[in-house]
Amino acid sequence: MATNGIAKKLKANRAKAIVDAAYAGKYMIAGVCCYNLEGIIATVRAAEAKKSPALIQLFPWSIEYADGLLLHAAAEAADKASVPIGVHMDHAQSPDIIRKSVELGGYDGIMVDMSHYEKEENMRLSKELVELCNAKGIITECEPGRINGFEDGIADTEGMEEILTTPEQAEEFVALGIDWLAPAFGNVHGAYGPKGPQLDFPRLERIHAAVGDRVRLVLHGAHEDYFQEQLLRKCIAAGMSKVNINGPVNAAYTRVGAELTGKVPLTTVVEEQTKAMQQVIEQNMDWIMSTGKAA
Ligand SMILES: [Zn+2]
Repeated sequence: MATNGIAKKLKANRAKAIVDAAYAGKYMIAGVCCYNLEGIIATVRAAEAKKSPALIQLFPWSIEYADGLLLHAAAEAADKASVPIGVHMDHAQSPDIIRKSVELGGYDGIMVDMSHYEKEENMRLSKELVELCNAKGIITECEPGRINGFEDGIADTEGMEEILTTPEQAEEFVALGIDWLAPAFGNVHGAYGPKGPQLDFPRLERIHAAVGDRVRLVLHGAHEDYFQEQLLRKCIAAGMSKVNINGPVNAAYTRVGAELTGKVPLTTVVEEQTKAMQQVIEQNMDWIMSTGKAA
């Protein structure tokens, strides 16, 4: 009975429905990394303007900084939007933050990212935390292997070995009951080296063949210098259904802030920052072909 109840709750999960539809329709969903109310508002406005589904993503930092305030604002924004929006936690890297997040309520999905632990510990913790989330109707994302690099909101993996995901490892994580899988196939967080991304697409295709349609593949490390229309669509063709957008959205916020602060009223600064972020998100929605896909 209990298991049926959980299955029912997960089936009704809006983040799952949004990304499942993207997989079926061969487009991707933008998971927009938000750090403030402006990011949340920009995501919803972009989605409504483009008639596109989207995900508002928050890092554990949001809870360290503001307890549940940003999370609950995001959930309310998603509830009130005229297009499908879900709320997802990106890179939750400790059991404590995951337990706290589940308790606070408001997340549709949580990335249970134990990739900085060694493999056995990663599996053990992931299993326990995936079960905890699922019992509350929250879907999960995991990262078999290890995506290296650094960006705002994520623990730096500098000095740790990059571990590319294998189809066998992917299979082990599928068995845990995860919904989304973030493969490491040469993608890194933040800046790429002078050679640019060295992506192992044959590996990605083997992973996709192994997991089939049981989980959705999601893309991390889509640096804006490289991941534009062409490369993003190549990732869609390889079976990916969600991409995290972080740097360019938040760069628009800080750029406009630096340009306008002290020159116009603060309300104008905030409004212009929101607009600039919205523009970046809208462009990405066109690139990943989610534009027009909101039912
Ligand atoms: Zn990531």
